[in-house]
Amino acid sequence: MRILILIAIGLLLYVIIGNLLRRNKLKSPTLLTEKMVKCQHCGLHILEQEAIQSGDAYYCSQEHLENHYQAK
Ligand SMILES: [Zn+2]
Repeated sequence: MRILILIAIGLLLYVIIGNLLRRNKLKSPTLLTEKMVKCQHCGLHILEQEAIQSGDAYYCSQEHLENHYQAK
């Protein structure tokens, strides 16, 4: 009977730890690498690493960067 209780506790810990690890894995990369920025020309949200930066502003494409400066 004691073995059954130990197995039950072991399974419970396995499930709890598994959930914690999975949650950490999902959370940290999205926070660290997938920062969203807004295109100053069309307002589209893109990943910072895929955006084109010009000073403090971000653009979704080279075309929008140029359009934005031409419009001024
Ligand atoms: Zn744009």
